[in-house]
Amino acid sequence: MNFALAVHGGAGLSRAGSLSPERQASCRAALEEALRTGARTLASGGSAVDAVEAAVIILEDSPLFNAGHGAVLNADGDAELDAGIMDGRQRTAGGVAGLRRTRNPIQAARAAMEHSPHVLLSGAGADAFASERGLAQVDPAWFVIDERKAQLANLLAGTPDDGSDAYGTVGAVARDLEGHLAAATSTGGTAGKRYGRIGDSPIIGAGTWAWDSTCAVSCTGDGEAFIRSHLAGRVSDWIEMSGLSLREAAHRAIHHDLTGGKGGLIAVGKAGPAVMPYNTAGMFRGRIDMRGEPEVSIW
Ligand code: ASP
Repeated sequence: MNFALAVHGGAGLSRAGSLSPERQASCRAALEEALRTGARTLASGGSAVDAVEAAVIILEDSPLFNAGHGAVLNADGDAELDAGIMDGRQRTAGGVAGLRRTRNPIQAARAAMEHSPHVLLSGAGADAFASERGLAQVDPAWFVIDERKAQLANLLAGTPDDGSDAYGTVGAVARDLEGHLAAATSTGGTAGKRYGRIGDSPIIGAGTWAWDSTCAVSCTGDGEAFIRSHLAGRVSDWIEMSGLSLREAAHRAIHHDLTGGKGGLIAVGKAGPAVMPYNTAGMFRGRIDMRGEPEVSIW
């Protein structure tokens, strides 16, 4: 069995060339590092869940993406973080929403999956749970970077955004050497969101989904549209119920099923490479398998 791994760093760039060459290079380097980290885990026999968690942690810790350190800010100027993870073996899943203190939200989602009877935890209760599980807690200011403060100020002032950092959520999907699938997604949500808003990333079947029988999916884009379209689950449903290939199912989900918003997804199936469709101008994305070097693209 060939392992496969893909990562994304968000969709939604307004146009090719809207990022400086330096910024592009830094984003590519971070995506490559995430791919290499996840691939090392898979090559040494690690599980798909271990690989997607490891890859997402790299991107959460990078200030370049809208997750963990460097997340977008809500209308009050605070970072509120959502994350979801799913293990395709038994379709176990965990999600956390509105975290303010847990350094790596994807670890909290995994802890919810593996060490609680619940699927979705939110707010102070989710941070308290993560803390009880021994996960690193930080001052909320740790997540906030100047670039995001400026983005929020522009948004509140009604200054048009060039769209270069409209989304920026991160995610990973993997198939391990035993053929098991997993998906993980982590985000600060949407810039200027109302306090308490929850996006699609921690909602199983909306922004995150994995099932060994079909595929693993991580989405990025307008969360409300992904929730209403049950988008990640649609990819799986098309494969299960209509016999579509992974490529056909992912394409149909993004280009036909996603209504009232834009975005993209990454997905892996039982065999073959990952697919990465999007309907925005660009999506930070990359994939790797046993044979090759990381392949990273933006547009
Ligand atoms: N889907 C995320 C959300 O709505 C945003 C993103 O993908 O950047 O919370």
